Amino acid sequence: MTAGQAESAPTRRKVSDTLACPRCGTPGLLTALYPHEWHGRSGQVVRGYKEAVLCADCDRGEEAAQGVIELVDTQGQIGLENAELFIRRAVTWVERARGREPDDAVLADEEQRWRSGVL
Ligand SMILES: [Zn+2]
Repeated sequence: MTAGQAESAPTRRKVSDTLACPRCGTPGLLTALYPHEWHGRSGQVVRGYKEAVLCADCDRGEEAAQGVIELVDTQGQIGLENAELFIRRAVTWVERARGREPDDAVLADEEQRWRSGVL
């Protein structure tokens, strides 16, 4: 998206559309799509969306992610009885993911995989 383009709504996805983990390539447990904005070259604010993938392997042990992973691991699926707990934990995880800075090594690996046709 370039500066001056109108913000468009993200494409709807099903739960089954969870992306593969960009770090290890295994299927993610959860994909979050959240609003993101940055300043373009002209200084104008550009609005768009970013994604975060929760990975049972790569995120295990990270405090905010661990709460969601444990719930999914022990419950198998989220029912009405634990929906509120899941939402609280998922929101905490997304807020943590939003503050995460990109890892240059991960970006370089992803670019290499994209250029080689793996992604
Ligand atoms: Zn992973």
